[in-house]
Amino acid sequence: MIYLDYAATAPVPRAVADAMYEVLTGRFGNPSSQYPLGLEMKKQAESWRTAVAEAMGCTAKQLYFTSCGTEGDNWAVTAACWQNRRLGKHIVTTAVEHSAVLESCRWMERQGYEVTYLGPDQKGHITAAQVLEAVRPDTALVSVMMVNNELGNMYPIGDIARGLASKNPRTLLHTDAVQGFLEVPFAADRLGADFVTVSAHKIGGPKGCGALYIGPRVRNPRPLLAGGGQESGLRAGTEATAQIAGFARAVELRRQGLEQTLARLRELRAYAAETLSAIPDLTLIGDGEAPHILAASLAGWPSQNIVNDLGSQGICISAGSACHQGRPSHVVAALGLPRRTAGGVIRLSFGPESTQDEIDDCARALRRHHDQRMPML
Ligand code: PLP
Repeated sequence: MIYLDYAATAPVPRAVADAMYEVLTGRFGNPSSQYPLGLEMKKQAESWRTAVAEAMGCTAKQLYFTSCGTEGDNWAVTAACWQNRRLGKHIVTTAVEHSAVLESCRWMERQGYEVTYLGPDQKGHITAAQVLEAVRPDTALVSVMMVNNELGNMYPIGDIARGLASKNPRTLLHTDAVQGFLEVPFAADRLGADFVTVSAHKIGGPKGCGALYIGPRVRNPRPLLAGGGQESGLRAGTEATAQIAGFARAVELRRQGLEQTLARLRELRAYAAETLSAIPDLTLIGDGEAPHILAASLAGWPSQNIVNDLGSQGICISAGSACHQGRPSHVVAALGLPRRTAGGVIRLSFGPESTQDEIDDCARALRRHHDQRMPML
């Protein structure tokens, strides 16, 4: 199998699975239990929190474990709106956010909020000026992702934060950094965002685990889940100790030689861009600043057919986001591309295990698809 879909999810290294197995079977105590098996897990959970917080560039106290990136996004949007409920009922976000943010915003719309969805240009750019221009005195929240999961474009979170400080210092800023974490450098506590969402399974951790950074401007963040006093009383639910152990181990592994890994990913991405560009009718989409994501379009050939054809040959790529199976992606739609181009958008994404040979095989399969199938769009 050739796996070129790391932005959808990544394989779990053996060392991560081993760390999880040990917690699931031997050190299975509930961190709230008051005997040594539980107390030890409480201590251990704090050391895992420290490991993830160090990688995010914040203190352990600022980091809350969640069940996934989606939960972090939902929590950030609702907590920001709650804190600023007296400031106003306006949200600024982009039309290319992950559905975890978009659907949270739509939920807020049903609660009476007005949401401004900023559109990108055809290359997928969103500028800080564009975001700041949309901010009003009643803007409770700005939510802009760090790296777009379908295009690989990076958005200027630092510039947005600096601009917000003068445009409306009370507006809270959330960034979904699920595709940015350990792919592009950032330090949560210097970024200027009040909330930063990350997820474990994009970097070799288990699915069903994430974390949310909550900065000092957020006072008494409103929990999303009501219940026990876990996570300093802000995120109820028995800690998913095995998942968290796996997340921390994946973070440690990924941080070893991170610069070399990212340099290699950038090389692979450039290699893929060059190799794929030789295919007739293929154009690159987006800006691809992130090292691990490459979007392209085989204009005229429906992306779902390409994905199915390559999938039947054991090559895993995606048609836009894995969360939009079968439906046209809202991200591609927002680019306003010609119909034939929009219909043929595919995404390749790379991880530490990816190789040039895999890219060559994928390019050959794409070329065959182009040569042997009739364009249908
Ligand atoms: N945000 C972005 C940008 C993503 O790419 C994803 C997953 O694809 C998520 C949020 C959701 O993360 P999770 O799968 O952990 O819920």
